[in-house]
Amino acid sequence: MIETQGFGSSTPSQKTISPLTFSRQEPQGTELQIEILYCGLCHSDVELLANNWSTTKYPCIPGHEAVGRVTALGPDVTQYKPGDIVGIGTLMDSCLSCSACGEGFENLCEGPNGAMMLHGGFLTPGDAEAAKVNTFGAWSGSVVVKERFVIRIPEGTGELERVAPVFCAGTDTWGPLRRLQLDGRSRLGIIGLGGPGHLALQMAKKMGTGHIVVFTTHPEEKREAALCFGADEVVDSNDPAAMKGLHRSLNYILSTVPVPFDPTPYLRTLRRRGTMTVMALLGPYKNLFNNFELAVAGLNLRGSMIGSIQETRESLAFCLEHGILPEVEVIEAEAGAINNAIKRLKVADVRFRIHQGGIVEL
Ligand SMILES: [Zn+2]
Ligand SMILES: [Zn+2]
Repeated sequence: MIETQGFGSSTPSQKTISPLTFSRQEPQGTELQIEILYCGLCHSDVELLANNWSTTKYPCIPGHEAVGRVTALGPDVTQYKPGDIVGIGTLMDSCLSCSACGEGFENLCEGPNGAMMLHGGFLTPGDAEAAKVNTFGAWSGSVVVKERFVIRIPEGTGELERVAPVFCAGTDTWGPLRRLQLDGRSRLGIIGLGGPGHLALQMAKKMGTGHIVVFTTHPEEKREAALCFGADEVVDSNDPAAMKGLHRSLNYILSTVPVPFDPTPYLRTLRRRGTMTVMALLGPYKNLFNNFELAVAGLNLRGSMIGSIQETRESLAFCLEHGILPEVEVIEAEAGAINNAIKRLKVADVRFRIHQGGIVEL
């Protein structure tokens, strides 16, 4: 067993995180042991600590967007060697035999236990034994993951602390944007300019999107940055007149906010047969909305949750090729500093990383 130091909560009632020591199994089969160099603090880490999805296992060690160095190999590893620099995202395993896995969507695994998350275990536990599997996330000294679920970071890649969030915020927004097949005639709205939003904006711009509107509830703070990252328009989503001004004018919307919101004002900005993809929200909308809002214009409303391994690989390649890396704030791997970052993330006092509160240097 590998004795590992991490940060997290021992019980659901623990209000702040503390240092924890736990054990991981030595790498077996195709598993790699990876020493974590940097790991992001994402909104979903906070949700997990608070057991907001009722799936949290304790002790809970968050962390699911990390960059690390391979330190040890299971006997069947073929793709990696010690010293390789790699990235790991939310997805750490899946059944690999269901039709979703067969089509390359391990994140949508339909196996009995669903996809396995780096910072928790099985997402949809099918039985009591699976529900006990606690994978312990990457706010820790090292993780052990099968090579199939690890992404190689090209040698010589700098600013690894800025690469880490690509494995969550980057891949989560990459898939939904790619599926829209954006081009110069596309008019796209992006809701939110936090971690995922500011990456989505830059990716959409590089994909050749004709016109991009950023919707934000903090226009005075976000306008300049949004324009700098490539937005054509910044709209205050709390301003009914501004929202009305966009009536039936957009082809697509990508929502990147993890908190409950009212979809109706946004749906009304979509043209007929337009599509709104809602990622990051893993709970109810703020209110029940009337299906008439969809029906009247033949609209599509989609959900999206993390990305497949192939999508993660593609999003990293695209971000590195186009120099799209998140703005980050590096904090020390120390309980006080992490608790402070969590507190700031909760009140959205983080310029771009509202969803990615900071990077923990481990
Ligand atoms: Zn995340
Ligand atoms: Zn599967």
